[in-house]
Amino acid sequence: MRTAIVTGASRGIGRACAITLAAQRFAVVVNYAGSADEAAQVVREIESAGGKALAVQADVASATAVARLFDGAEAAFDGIDVVVSSAGVMTNGPIAEVADDEFDRVIGINLRGTFNVFRETARRVRDDGRLIGLSSTTLALNAPGYGLYNATKGAVEGIVRVAAKELGGRGITVNAVAPGPVETGLFLDGKSEADVQRMAGMAPQKRLGRPDDIAGVVAFLASPQAAWVNGQVVRANGGIA
Ligand code: NDP
Repeated sequence: MRTAIVTGASRGIGRACAITLAAQRFAVVVNYAGSADEAAQVVREIESAGGKALAVQADVASATAVARLFDGAEAAFDGIDVVVSSAGVMTNGPIAEVADDEFDRVIGINLRGTFNVFRETARRVRDDGRLIGLSSTTLALNAPGYGLYNATKGAVEGIVRVAAKELGGRGITVNAVAPGPVETGLFLDGKSEADVQRMAGMAPQKRLGRPDDIAGVVAFLASPQAAWVNGQVVRANGGIA
């Protein structure tokens, strides 16, 4: 059985990716940082549909914890074939007002966390494996307030392209998905209803993305059919940019 690790799979996009990959017969490692109950619920949902899953706590900002996450996956299943690096946090505010501790927190999770997961994947993923990072359509919009967040997502796209060349010789592909606004806690928390409606209205379909809209793209990139898609950033945003 092929195995997938999905970071940040207790909620939102990662959760949808975990459930979608499980439906495609992957044994799935459901990573989370603090939401143990939600992660256990994702595992139950996968198991009740006949799939295999395991919840593993690990803060992606810690290299040691990420190594432990991969150890757990290898111990429970027989190897690692797909890694979805979805764990991330959002921050919003003018560059002039970003505090040092907020900078460290967001860089720690979004950039160092991504790097930790990419490094461990490069060391351990089996031949013909798949690594999928999460960027953002905010990089195309360049809206005020997204300076720090975009800096981390620019880093995701940068490492994706290099990793694609470093790992491609083993049949491994490395790509990113760059969603537009998706109705998850990350997007909705702290926004007024008016702001949410305004951003939903940016898409031709006049709605927000749904986690399953993104999971479908991730599942395609994880599939054998996507073997010739490598080093790419796929925008999944309904057409807003
Ligand atoms: P959510 O806030 O819904 O979920 C975030 C997930 O990441 C949770 O499972 C959370 O786990 C986990 N997580 C947070 N910090 C850590 C950490 N340090 N270590 C391990 N896991 C962690 O976010 P989304 O699903 O919306 O976002 C997923 C990815 O998609 C992010 O990288 C985000 O930047 C990107 N994205 C999202 C968009 C959107 O509009 N929603 C648009 C574009 C990109 P726990 O609850 O246990 O902390």
